[in-house]
Amino acid sequence: MAIDLRSDTVTKPSQEMRQAIANAPVGDDVYGDDPTVNSLEERVAAMFGKEAAVFAPTGSLANQLAIRMLVAPGEELIAETNSHIVRAELGAAAVFSGITTRTWPAVHGLLRAADPLEIARPDSGPYLVSTTAIAVENTHNFGGGTVQPISEIAALRKGADAMGLKLHLDGARIWNAHIASGVSFLEYGQYFDTISVCLSKGLGAPVGSIMISTKERVAKARIWRKRYGAGMRQVGILAAAGHFALDNNIERLSDDHRRAKELATAIATIDSSLIDPATVQTNIVGLDLAHLSITAAELAKRCRDNGLWISALGPKYARLVTHMDFDDAQCTEAIEILKKALVA
Ligand SMILES: *Cc1c(COP(=O)(O)O)cnc(C)c1O
Repeated sequence: MAIDLRSDTVTKPSQEMRQAIANAPVGDDVYGDDPTVNSLEERVAAMFGKEAAVFAPTGSLANQLAIRMLVAPGEELIAETNSHIVRAELGAAAVFSGITTRTWPAVHGLLRAADPLEIARPDSGPYLVSTTAIAVENTHNFGGGTVQPISEIAALRKGADAMGLKLHLDGARIWNAHIASGVSFLEYGQYFDTISVCLSKGLGAPVGSIMISTKERVAKARIWRKRYGAGMRQVGILAAAGHFALDNNIERLSDDHRRAKELATAIATIDSSLIDPATVQTNIVGLDLAHLSITAAELAKRCRDNGLWISALGPKYARLVTHMDFDDAQCTEAIEILKKALVA
């Protein structure tokens, strides 16, 4: 069996999760009748100290519903250069919301509040586009699973308030940030106007994300969700997987983080230019192949030929992501395969 470290989305629901899915009470969620969806939405909203939440099939849609609520057509959202919203949602913010984005670059995607605040231009009048919101990704995926410092988030909120700007949290992996930093979900929640979270990454649910905000924004987002074609019916079978994931799979993320650190440490021993293990805070190991003669695609191919799947996300950038279907024995095996691939 191949070891798959392309993403933490590759996990398969356990027998226990499938049992929870099978037993879920359901109803027509477009009519608001699905008790399992309703309780999941209420539960996640409360976890982050917010009024309401809406279930979505994907994290991209949860982000796009939030953006739609915060930024009017012709206005601007600012985000980090390598953020998922800007790079991995296929231009959805422009296509669906009719907005523009402007970006600031950050090493490892690490937030410094001053960076977005310096480029933000609210109320720009009739000549320049007006900024209305800033998006923060935590953990930062393409930055290498970077946890955003809570002090910078607090400073960003303060600066944003002074400028009348809204803040969105792309919290696809906020669970990992919480486990790595010890910062509570309530504390993360208090700084943002809208939040998206994914149940299908490290938490291991097959499908499901949630957009969290005020009652008013969530009520409007429900209309947009239906308009985008994602009004779902007896979707409590998926919400049940979400409940199961929240009950059972948050604390265990520390195992994923430990294994990511082990991978990074072993890889740095082979070639220290590939990664600094100290930068690996969560479950993502990003490899910089700039000093190697091979490309990320070639490394991925060599690994794959030996039973290890990794992602080549740039010409010289490869990514390994640990997850709940990756154990200690596979970690040892993965390190052996990487050693062979890197010295070949
Ligand atoms: C995975 C991910 C999403 C959502 O992705 P979907 O595939 O649409 O569920 C959003 N933001 C970040 C940072 C992600 O890693």
